[in-house]
Amino acid sequence: MEPLHDRLGRPLETLRVSVTDRCNFRCVYCMPKEAFGRDHAFLDRKELLSFEEIARVVGVFAGLGVRTVRLTGGEPLVRRDVERLVAQLAEIPDLQLALTTNGALLPQKAQALAEAGLDRVTVSLDSVDDAVFRALNDVDFPVDRVLEGIDAAAAAGLPVKVNAVVKRGVNDAGIVALAEHFRGTGHTLRFIEYMDVGHTNGWRLDDVVPADEIVKRIAAVWPLEPVAGRPDETALRFRYADGAGEIGVIASVTKPFCGGCSRARLSAEGRLHTCLFALRGHDLRAPLRAGASDDELAELLRGIWTRRTDRYSELRTADTPSLPKVEMSYIGG
Ligand code: SAM
Repeated sequence: MEPLHDRLGRPLETLRVSVTDRCNFRCVYCMPKEAFGRDHAFLDRKELLSFEEIARVVGVFAGLGVRTVRLTGGEPLVRRDVERLVAQLAEIPDLQLALTTNGALLPQKAQALAEAGLDRVTVSLDSVDDAVFRALNDVDFPVDRVLEGIDAAAAAGLPVKVNAVVKRGVNDAGIVALAEHFRGTGHTLRFIEYMDVGHTNGWRLDDVVPADEIVKRIAAVWPLEPVAGRPDETALRFRYADGAGEIGVIASVTKPFCGGCSRARLSAEGRLHTCLFALRGHDLRAPLRAGASDDELAELLRGIWTRRTDRYSELRTADTPSLPKVEMSYIGG
């Protein structure tokens, strides 16, 4: 099928679906306790798209050419019975199903997710130093438990990627230790530049460790060679010259890749965002609940994608970080 293209010629290929705005971590750069305390108003259950509604929207997206769906959150594994959603999505033909998680619940969930038809998992892990990790997640969660989750996913047959956001002065001292931990394990490690999205008031370019610097620090210990990637790939890839695997860096601040962005994002309450930095989404829940047909939904999505012009990261200037942003815990990264 001919993929749908936006105004800048970018095809619609991937859909990220946030299944909840809740999380069991309070990572200091994402859901700080000051902003997401006990009295925080999370979405009500009836405001969330049901699994049936999500599966229906994903089916329509698949009909428009989407080939990869990534479940995210909040923390997707805190949504009860999320493996039931995976099983429903697995019935849609020719769809790769991925999930991004903090890994805390993977030890008990990995097997059920794999059996339900999940194809791969990405685990967010910003440090292998227990003290640094406990301070970052701010709920005193031990790093060993996440490492157990990674092992459980691998044992269930799920390919694992590990994503580490790097913030200068917070966890950058552990870049080489992270690389060392995952070298030779078969799990791909990707470093992510800290972005001015979500709850990052006071974000400064100085907080970002540029991709070039991350690569240089690792290559100083184990030489690296660049790997050619696909045009729509978010990560710049490198392989260890000694054959111990691959790392990647996602340089959305220092080398933005909006030109290759083929991703749409669906919030837990059914709002469609065509850019990670788009503050307002398009409401899909209202037409869904008003009885729109699949054809009507497809027409709506086609209209939204073909009008798309977003390219925030390429237009980022010294002033844009102060603009209001959508929360990462709402849209899922
Ligand atoms: N709870 C799941 C997890 O931890 O992977 C999924 C949602 S979480 C919002 C998705 C990713 O966004 C995580 O890897 C998190 O580290 C990342 N993230 C949050 N705020 C960020 C920021 N300001 N810059 C870069 N990445 C960020």
